[in-house]
Amino acid sequence: MNTSYQLFIDGVWREGSDGTKVPVIDPATEEAFAEVSWGTPEDANLALAAAEKAFAEGGEWSTWSPTRRGRFLFAVAALVRQNIAELSALFSREHGKPPHQASGELEDAARYLEYFGGWADKLTGMTIDLGRGQMDYVLREPLGVTVHIAPWNYPLDIFCRSIAPALAAGNTCVVKPSREISVVTLALARLFQEAGLPAGVLNIIPGSGSVLGKVLTEDPRVRGIIFTGSVATGRTVLQAAARNITPVVSMELGGKAPSLVFVKDATELDGPVGGAVGALAWNAGQSCGQRARWYVRRDLYEPFLERLAPRVRNLKVGPATQPGVDLGPLVSKKHYDNVMNYIRIGIEEGARLIAGGGRPEGLGEKGYFVAPTVFADCHNGMRIVREEIFGPVITVIPVDSLDEAVDLANDNMFGLSSEIWTSDVTTAHSVASRLDVGHVTINGSAAFGFEVPFGGVKLSGLGREGGPEAILAYTRLKNVWVNLSRK
Ligand code: NAD
Repeated sequence: MNTSYQLFIDGVWREGSDGTKVPVIDPATEEAFAEVSWGTPEDANLALAAAEKAFAEGGEWSTWSPTRRGRFLFAVAALVRQNIAELSALFSREHGKPPHQASGELEDAARYLEYFGGWADKLTGMTIDLGRGQMDYVLREPLGVTVHIAPWNYPLDIFCRSIAPALAAGNTCVVKPSREISVVTLALARLFQEAGLPAGVLNIIPGSGSVLGKVLTEDPRVRGIIFTGSVATGRTVLQAAARNITPVVSMELGGKAPSLVFVKDATELDGPVGGAVGALAWNAGQSCGQRARWYVRRDLYEPFLERLAPRVRNLKVGPATQPGVDLGPLVSKKHYDNVMNYIRIGIEEGARLIAGGGRPEGLGEKGYFVAPTVFADCHNGMRIVREEIFGPVITVIPVDSLDEAVDLANDNMFGLSSEIWTSDVTTAHSVASRLDVGHVTINGSAAFGFEVPFGGVKLSGLGREGGPEAILAYTRLKNVWVNLSRK
């Protein structure tokens, strides 16, 4: 164990109040390589008090102009890029992501900082004409203390996509990273300190979700909650927020994205097949937007599977330290067991295994590695089609018509991402309008991020992150009426 990470509260790095430290496990070796201090309710209270003090009038943060806040976020983005090699090595070790994916996520984190940094001095209120003798104006103000609860799958991307707009709009933040992945978030927070953020504006406390989460979401000092994670925890957070009617800025939950393959003929299958390979390889399938349900027109179905199978079998699974790895290990033993269990369920449900189906060969017994797995001949009644597996597993389903595909795509509790592959422009746009989701891509999966609103409907959550609407949600409106006729 060579490195110890601490909590960041009120501008100071410190141990948790009861001295508890937990090992940080490398998911490729199952060995601890560092330890991290674990926050307690007392620490959560300290962090909230620090954030409240930092937000108050007269503190240094209240003297920063919007322009200065924006420049600050640009400065942190530049530091992220300067430190990208070191941070991505730590990230790969803690998470298991191959280096190109770890550094890609750090670049995304930097882009969030820049995008919302650019917004800091562009927020405006308005005036309303109520007639002569009176004036009415609307102030746009920050919310105050905001609490950010993050998952483990894209910890840095999700950290920056919410703290960047929060800070740009003048709020202060208390962040609880996921219990699985927290040290890389702490390492990133050092750069905020290095760039000169006043004490208490950003506080980070790793620790148990249920213990810290309860304190952070039930406290009346909190004026905004930003949550990304599972539906089950999302429900708990909504109930906690109800206690003080705390605004929930966004709640980004799970997904089970459909991809509809309706290209002209088999000669146009390269795009969708590449998309399916990416759904398995990128982040080892641990993505809320993973295209997990592939509805393929029946004449394209077998050609699609024939092209997909060899490409999936060629994916290289292994530790992130090995060159050329496409998929690293899953994040934790608990998650590995969960994904393996779904693979067993898929086999029991009678799906046809086209590739994968368990541990990859040649990697020994250590490490949470799962072979990328494709199940064919699936149907919407199967659990592997209905539920979020959140790993390198996809399901493929033949369909006879576009109407059937749209109905089956919408027949799911989630409504986050979706995708259609077609060269027919009318089909593309009519399907986009009929899908009951927050996000549709046409002929590719890449386009979402900083500049566009991202979020879901149904059990996928509420609110949007990214784009101009996102930063507005980190502000509140105050209306002021003035009597101009008073002598
Ligand atoms: P999770 O719900 O287990 O944990 C999320 C966070 O909540 C963690 O920090 C956890 O410690 C904390 N937490 C746990 N109990 C809590 C409580 N009682 N009160 C408050 N906080 C509590 O989710 P996870 O396993 O970390 O993440 C995976 C899930 O996140 C998947 O469902 C995935 O789809 C979803 N996700 C969604 C998006 C999106 O943008 N829609 C992005 C990434 C991940």
